[in-house]
Amino acid sequence: MKAVRFVEVGKPAEIVDVPQPKPGPGQVLLKIGGAGVCHSDLHIMDEDLGLKGPFTLGHENAGWIAGVGQGVDGWKEGDPVAVYGPWGCGRCHTCQTSAENYCENHASLGTMGGGLGSDGGMADYMLVPSPRLLVPLGKLDPVLAAPLSDAALTPYHAIKSALPMLTPDTHVLVIGIGGLGHMAVQLLQVLCAATVIAGDIDEAKLAHAKELGVRHVVNTHDSNAAAEAIGKLTGPRGVTLALDFVGAQPTVDLCVRVVGRNSRITVVGLAGGTLHYAANRPPYGCQVTIPYWGSRTELMEVISLAAEGKIHPLVEKFPLEKAVDVYRRLREGSIKGRAVLLP
Ligand code: NAD
Ligand code: ZN
Repeated sequence: MKAVRFVEVGKPAEIVDVPQPKPGPGQVLLKIGGAGVCHSDLHIMDEDLGLKGPFTLGHENAGWIAGVGQGVDGWKEGDPVAVYGPWGCGRCHTCQTSAENYCENHASLGTMGGGLGSDGGMADYMLVPSPRLLVPLGKLDPVLAAPLSDAALTPYHAIKSALPMLTPDTHVLVIGIGGLGHMAVQLLQVLCAATVIAGDIDEAKLAHAKELGVRHVVNTHDSNAAAEAIGKLTGPRGVTLALDFVGAQPTVDLCVRVVGRNSRITVVGLAGGTLHYAANRPPYGCQVTIPYWGSRTELMEVISLAAEGKIHPLVEKFPLEKAVDVYRRLREGSIKGRAVLLP
């Protein structure tokens, strides 16, 4: 079967023939419906994140059960499922709470999940090491559901923990209206009554935020003008939650500048910015969080929001063979919503 492989840092992904895997005891074989193309893959190819290649990329996957190994009960061929991406040990206290994204044993596992050290979903088939890592999709189309497992789950986890702060008189700034950000603005509008402000350096992404119902958009290219425009919207209270889906120096700095007292800066993007603290900036009472992905039960919650028609990933579909070109387009910023590869 064809697979899109990470080879080594500094090299582009390669499309090669690999043997179709067979499920061993306890494992599940998935026929891939769609594999989302996440900006994290570009970080994997550009920087040393400690992941050793080669392995098949694609950590945002959904499809249908194609076979089960010995000892796997309760699942049958053809069942549509999403794959929970951050594979933990499954045994530690944190994994037992379903938050495998914060597995206590992650350092000794040698992989962060399928497409992140182990073979992922940019192929016809994928092996999932345990049915614990599957969530049923019901009537949802696996192609459209693939982005739920990261592009929606990651902002959901980040937003959910901040909900007690997000009273109707507060402002949330979302920076980076790409794959994750376009889900974040939808999730915020479903989960709370805070006023959303969308920031990006690309007018097309800001127009997309408007299409999604966001009234206030700010081009953050000029950070002084952006900080001023945001300050006008929030008044002296400032931004209560700044969600940074870029994580570059200018975006982290902007978050520090616009949050008020008793606020939160949440940095999700991996672009390598540093958050500096100096007396009074960020102001007193500000928390800084660096969430990673989400828990298994949170993925169930996200899937139920999509099943109810309350959130809609915007999916641009591409054949698997186009992967290298799709990564190029993602890098230049010309994907609207999320690109999903179809085998
Ligand atoms: P994307 O490429 O789909 O979207 C990025 C968006 O940011 C684009 O709209 C782009 O125009 C905008 N942007 C780029 N530079 C900007 C800047 N300087 N100022 C304002 N906007 C800017 O990316 P994505 O797949 O949504 O991923 C976003 C980030 O989140 C990536 O760094 C990715 O690695 C990271 N990520 C983190 C986690 C986690 O758990 N922490 C999970 C998934 C992705
Ligand atoms: Zn664990």
